[in-house]
Amino acid sequence: MNTKKVPKAFRPINKRIYSRNRCFYCGNLLRSKNSKEHVFPKWLQEKFNLWDQTIHLLNGTTIQYSKLTVPCCHRCNTVHLSKLENRVKRYLFGEPISVARKHSGDILIWVLKILLGIIYAERLLPWQRSKPGGRRILPREMKDSLSMTHFFVQGLDLKIEFEAEGQIRIPGSVFIFNLKQLPDPAEHFTFRDDLNSLSVFMRLGNRGIIATADGGAVDFDVGGAVRRDGAVKLHPVQFSEIGAKIFYKASLFNRTAKYMTMYSNKTYRVMQMPLAGLSPRPVFDDWDHFAYAHFLALFMNVDVSRVTSADQSLVSTWLYDKDGNRTYIPIDTK
Ligand SMILES: [Zn+2]
Repeated sequence: MNTKKVPKAFRPINKRIYSRNRCFYCGNLLRSKNSKEHVFPKWLQEKFNLWDQTIHLLNGTTIQYSKLTVPCCHRCNTVHLSKLENRVKRYLFGEPISVARKHSGDILIWVLKILLGIIYAERLLPWQRSKPGGRRILPREMKDSLSMTHFFVQGLDLKIEFEAEGQIRIPGSVFIFNLKQLPDPAEHFTFRDDLNSLSVFMRLGNRGIIATADGGAVDFDVGGAVRRDGAVKLHPVQFSEIGAKIFYKASLFNRTAKYMTMYSNKTYRVMQMPLAGLSPRPVFDDWDHFAYAHFLALFMNVDVSRVTSADQSLVSTWLYDKDGNRTYIPIDTK
């Protein structure tokens, strides 16, 4: 490839990213050290009163949402990203849920931008690079999918077409839910992430988002069932159950998506190789009920014994009753 034509999108993926003086989004050098962007956008912190609340980081420490920032250049901050924020805010809270679902590509980029911001802020990669002989924090496969995710997040100012299993689609699985809102505003917001599977779970008042940067593998496999479960207004506890299911499912994905990228007519065409590859082995490991129960317990903030039967052969569900009928859980307004 002619070096002059090296697509802009490939620059940030090289070794220079994850530095204090480069924009987390486009990779360009910053003019001012104070050029920053909140990982959780200001409007979101305002809406859910997150300023003083804290988020757990990978190293076991916590940080206030208001202090979690990434270096970001003025142009990205004021052009692409603020346009994205305005759109997402409108899709989620100013329009019927069908509009957000129609724009799930924007929603996916938005949640992955938050996830990448957290990873960026934690400076995982420089630590790894500064101790080349040390323990690898990110396995190679994860670094690869992270690079690809970083690339896709730039779809705001680059024209990127993603194709998987013969369809033009979005480069991940994203599900958007209509939720019942708890009466106490202090309980309106939940954020969970899983950096191994690059998955995000967000409860935002009466909206819920679950997304994973898996090239669509979860969606191809169980998307229909998830959408059926999410076709009605769910109680937050039911949404958490779906979150546990999707996070566990994403953890069972045993392939690393491979891509072919071409650049022509100012468009990046990214083709995902068939997920199964040449192996007859299914792309997801077998579902283990008890392993799933651990995910469920984590999402419900309870001990695993609270969501399993005494002999551990059964796992609780809030979605269906014993006859398989949908369960309606009212909001407790005591
Ligand atoms: Zn930038």
